Amino acid sequence: MRSKTKMVHGGITRDEQTGAVSVPIYQVSTYKQDGVGNFRGYEYSRTGNPTRHALETVIADLENGNHGFAFGSGMAAITTIMMLLNADEHVILTDDVYGGSYRLMTKVLNRFNLDHTFVDTSSPERVEQAIKTNTKALYIETPTNPLLKITDIKKMTEIAKKHNLLLIVDNTFATPYWQQPLDLGADIVLHSATKYIGGHSDVVAGLVAVNSDELAERIHFLQNSVGAVLGPQDSWLLMRGIKTLALRMEAIEANTNKIVEFLHAHEKVSSVFYPGMKTHPGHDIAKSQSAGFGGMVSFDVGSGELAEEVLKRVKYFTLAESLGAVESLISLPAKMTHASIPADRRAELGITDGLIRVSVGIEDSEDLIEDLAQALES
Ligand SMILES: *Cc1c(COP(=O)(O)O)cnc(C)c1O
Repeated sequence: MRSKTKMVHGGITRDEQTGAVSVPIYQVSTYKQDGVGNFRGYEYSRTGNPTRHALETVIADLENGNHGFAFGSGMAAITTIMMLLNADEHVILTDDVYGGSYRLMTKVLNRFNLDHTFVDTSSPERVEQAIKTNTKALYIETPTNPLLKITDIKKMTEIAKKHNLLLIVDNTFATPYWQQPLDLGADIVLHSATKYIGGHSDVVAGLVAVNSDELAERIHFLQNSVGAVLGPQDSWLLMRGIKTLALRMEAIEANTNKIVEFLHAHEKVSSVFYPGMKTHPGHDIAKSQSAGFGGMVSFDVGSGELAEEVLKRVKYFTLAESLGAVESLISLPAKMTHASIPADRRAELGITDGLIRVSVGIEDSEDLIEDLAQALES
């Protein structure tokens, strides 16, 4: 099955009993047993629910895995995956990892003695240098937020295999439509499905896929034990979102290319960060491991004042956190998503006060460009 077909026909997409072409929302917590311990596949909805199960089979298909798992949020998925590790073990993570993942490692899991090091994973040498005797996992994001840095997934696989590390990839920005980390050797791929997979700013959810039965068994045990599962209603909404994921990503990328061209030529924009640009340092690697470059773009307007003015003046770009929806969103990382990161650390990462991040939607590109043009006039 090719990728667009998979979005529509992958996993379980209908109800066998009635022929309904959409999996019903099984709004249920428990299931009648025909005899003690004799149940028909489902016993309790934390352990398994038919609607959630249908979604879990679709994400496994999209990521070319054999098992999928759905959680109540991206952070619930990440937390559960981190539970695969033990106290006194060590994880290496991409340095400009999602703020919530940074917080989880530095303010929560540190209390359970799970050790971590943040590394610029776009440099395989630095990753190797950070490995300690107790390192058990390598956790990467590519592209990253908000500077769209690229990490070479195949190189990370080589390092992970050599040192016996679990390679975990947060594939939220690339989506399974453009990038399939399991095919490149990753052990676990995860998503904030709140973003592109849901795609309509109406669900908070997390998804995980793997292609190892052994790992799947451990993750299912944790999913059931920790209990941060996704409800049936939200599972259904995600399946609905997935059906148009390919169309949305194509439309978003076409718009993004035009916006990048406009920004690049604009006199008030000092730099543009987009992996689709030939001048982007990660362009060649991004091109080799992903079929597309996505819809996230950051650009620097030189000052925090101008950046705030632009955010005030835009009409079609909604000022909001989050990303990956049909509507275009705009944000100021230094004051919003990355405000909790200390200023000197932000400077180190290159997140300046004048850096604006946009998540391009599916509107007419002409309207989006005219909107940015008038906002930049200020
Ligand atoms: C949003 C996001 C998360 C967290 O997901 P939630 O659904 O908000 O819990 C994790 N990783 C990335 C890259 C994200 O953008």
